[in-house]
Amino acid sequence: MRIECPLCGSRDRREFYYAGHASALERPDPAASAEIWDNYLHIRENLAGVTNDLWHHETGCGAWLVVTRDTVSHAVLLARLAKRDKK
Ligand SMILES: [Zn+2]
Repeated sequence: MRIECPLCGSRDRREFYYAGHASALERPDPAASAEIWDNYLHIRENLAGVTNDLWHHETGCGAWLVVTRDTVSHAVLLARLAKRDKK
């Protein structure tokens, strides 16, 4: 599998570290309940189909990316730089 890093171009997936679903960028409010934090930290979906995941270009430029890919066909559909929305 190859990932198109916006800064480096097409690279082998072994240059990247998989860091889970991109929803991890949407952290709960610090005052949220223990149940909400427990779900955020420990509950993971294992979707079959198109998903958005966080990848770190660990042995490349060091950028964090949101990669849209199909978990069934392993096709990488899009890769963009990750950013957290300011609250
Ligand atoms: Zn890169």
